[in-house]
Amino acid sequence: MNKLRELGVTVCEHVVANIRPIKLVVHNHDNTWECMCGEIDHHDFIDSKIIGLNNLIESDSSILPIKQLPIGCSAERQGINADWKYYVLEE
Ligand SMILES: [Zn+2]
Repeated sequence: MNKLRELGVTVCEHVVANIRPIKLVVHNHDNTWECMCGEIDHHDFIDSKIIGLNNLIESDSSILPIKQLPIGCSAERQGINADWKYYVLEE
């Protein structure tokens, strides 16, 4: 099976600044990843950054389960102590 390797994840400005927890994770069909705060007040994705998934997990171990998220799926939670809910992305 796949070896675990460092994944680059696009994260929003709030997660970069560590002012909001990750509440939305997307594993896109092109095998890119996004970890967002899940709020709708993003001005511009120019402020997003690429961070290693392992680094994100180090600072928030509650996102560990989403490492298993299959391609073409997303995961959402209501808060840092809530369970992840999983969805299939539209093609
Ligand atoms: Zn955000």
